[in-house]
Amino acid sequence: MTLPLTSNYNPFDDMKGVILCNRCHKKMDSPVCQCGNTTGYVRFYWHGKRYNRRRDERGHTFTYQEAGRALSKLNSAMDNHDRVPFDPLFFLDTKIKERQFENQIEDYYQDKEKETKAGELSPEYFRIISGYNATYFTYFHGIDVTEINLKMLADFKRTLDILPGIKSRKNVLNSLRAFFNWLHQNGRIDKVPVFPTIKGDNSRQRRAIRSDQQHELLDLMPENVRDPFAFMMETGVRPGECCAILMQSCDPDNRVVWIERTLSGHTYRETTKENTKLPVPLNDVALEIVRRNMRGKLSLGFLFVNPINGKGFTYRALYDIWVRYTGNTVRPYEATRHSFCTQVVPLTDGYTAQRLMRHADKRSTDNYYHAFSDTLLDVVQRKNNVTELKKIKSSSEDK
Ligand SMILES: [Zn+2]
Repeated sequence: MTLPLTSNYNPFDDMKGVILCNRCHKKMDSPVCQCGNTTGYVRFYWHGKRYNRRRDERGHTFTYQEAGRALSKLNSAMDNHDRVPFDPLFFLDTKIKERQFENQIEDYYQDKEKETKAGELSPEYFRIISGYNATYFTYFHGIDVTEINLKMLADFKRTLDILPGIKSRKNVLNSLRAFFNWLHQNGRIDKVPVFPTIKGDNSRQRRAIRSDQQHELLDLMPENVRDPFAFMMETGVRPGECCAILMQSCDPDNRVVWIERTLSGHTYRETTKENTKLPVPLNDVALEIVRRNMRGKLSLGFLFVNPINGKGFTYRALYDIWVRYTGNTVRPYEATRHSFCTQVVPLTDGYTAQRLMRHADKRSTDNYYHAFSDTLLDVVQRKNNVTELKKIKSSSEDK
């Protein structure tokens, strides 16, 4: 019995592909076609259907060698079909263009812009991350996001070495990682590539000061600008939050102020579900400050008003006042919220401290477990005293 010489369907046809000349459309077997042309395109077949792939990731026509590389990439994806189903459409020109970094990140920014408008994202943060694309991420322009791997990311990381601070390098890389997480969550890449890490931390060590030192600094300021700083010291409220407190958020009868908005850049932003609106308790000092500043103001107005222009304080204005009168040996954030957190932690349990500091994550609160150095000295001193007491005791028993 003999098989017919011509078979309608050859299973190996599925794995085939050729390079055709861009001009005469004949098969190319060498870098220069018989017609003299040097560019070509890939024709491949999958399940009996014919597909053309004409351009590389950057939208350029292929040389013979480039077309060969694209074809072998296609063939290995076909070979891998059992593990990762092969989709011929994935390899077509329009799809490849769509997957280019600069097109994908535009979609990402549009999404983030919506979140910013909905108040879920800080406008300041959005401004910063959308600036990264033109400043740093041009490195990836023209590259298919599905092809970006650890090696490319590690090479990219080296381009960031020109940035002076480790922190700014970390910010750029973290922002890139956030983009890749978004790609993954939206089904645009199968997995997030492994990211290189940036070691070390050259950020300035933050200092915390005690209550008496805080008072010394406050005393250096004129009385009419002192209150917002004293309030932040007593409540741990962040400068941006302090600038944004409205009269309607103050409830002196219940000894609380609700922290429900913040000033970010030049925009007042409502605190949303992610970081819930929370009341901060008012101790005697804070209560007195609130009562004093509420006097004679309308309920829509700001609790703290800048005496220089009669408007709410900006972060900049607070900062300038602080520097002018205290000399800034201790920074305003250190002297207020950072000191507050450090002071509060030893006084209570971890959960209460977390709630007072309004940290969403307990780990942030744990960072404040670096006690004042003299407290530490106290502990080691007491340890020795205990031993001595025992000694005295035992020697007295010996008598
Ligand atoms: Zn030709």
